[in-house]
Amino acid sequence: MRILIVEDDPVLADGLTRSLRQADFAVDCAHDGEEADHVLTAQTYDLVILDLGLPKLDGFDVLKRLRRRGATVPVLVLTARDALADRVKGLDLGADDYLTKPFDLPELEARARALIRRGQSGGSSLLTHGPLTLDTSGRRATLHGVPLELSAREFGVLEVLMLRSGRVVNKDQLAERLYGWDEEVGTNAIEVYVHRLRKKLESAGVAIRTIRGLGYLLEKDA
Ligand code: CA
Repeated sequence: MRILIVEDDPVLADGLTRSLRQADFAVDCAHDGEEADHVLTAQTYDLVILDLGLPKLDGFDVLKRLRRRGATVPVLVLTARDALADRVKGLDLGADDYLTKPFDLPELEARARALIRRGQSGGSSLLTHGPLTLDTSGRRATLHGVPLELSAREFGVLEVLMLRSGRVVNKDQLAERLYGWDEEVGTNAIEVYVHRLRKKLESAGVAIRTIRGLGYLLEKDA
């Protein structure tokens, strides 16, 4: 799942990026409001973590423009300002949650997962597909109730396919969800993850079909 962090403090931005990457998110970072506004018009994210005090364009304006474009991406506002008025204004403008600095990284991660869940699957952290269950909160997979060993990337590919089960997902969409800007994406990487997933899932009759020229489709064998 892909997150945009909008934060002008380089130390905090860097710490957040590293911590969320360790938690298996793909993370991009914008360092001022204009950059954030620009990026958000061009790229789709699963969550935006937004500081309010930003150079060029403040967080309130970034949020206002985002919602005016009709974007429903969850937004977690992050700010040193703990004034009630700011909190209310942020929520009025369409923020989904609020964290006041300083905060604990585990709390930020927990809230990030909850917001992404709410945005994608109506609040449940469990995705199921036939005999396959993915716990997107605990990052665990089971097949027929037996734990299934998956790497973080394999889990990520499967999560996207399950969220869009029955629909074709192309390689670019998968890469977009799995990697940040500054991460190298090997051209064959997605194919390799899909290949590994197929081997792990074939005995259970869970099939990832290749739709030539279009992408992949998760379907359950009859
Ligand atoms: Ca700031």
